[in-house]
Amino acid sequence: MSCIFCRIINKEIPANQIYEDDLVLAFHDINPQAPYHILVIPKKHISTLLELTEEDKVLIGHIYGVINKIAKELGFAERGYRVVVNCKEEAGQTVFHVHFHVLAGRPMEWPPG
Ligand code: C5P
Repeated sequence: MSCIFCRIINKEIPANQIYEDDLVLAFHDINPQAPYHILVIPKKHISTLLELTEEDKVLIGHIYGVINKIAKELGFAERGYRVVVNCKEEAGQTVFHVHFHVLAGRPMEWPPG
């Protein structure tokens, strides 16, 4: 299996894990861009946002619920957070397994670079 995030899900590669359930895994990004930088990924391999289907609607809603749970548990819910999903190369996607970046703990700039 070549997908690095599938290998993290299968525990073949270590990650600093925060949360796991039947549908998703969350872990600290290896190269953090903010005091909190967490990746929330579906266990189902989906390459990019463009591959989402009707059957993934529940999964996507669930991911946002997990993000809120993590924000409350790690203590950045009150100040707020940013969620980023890069879709394909021009947007900056480097790992082709859908992942939600959750960034928090510092003021964010707008627009993103
Ligand atoms: O959106 P993009 O595809 O660029 O994001 C991939 C992210 O996965 C990067 O922030 C990178 O640091 C992270 N990563 C990780 N652990 C790995 C490989 C990549 O946290 N083993």
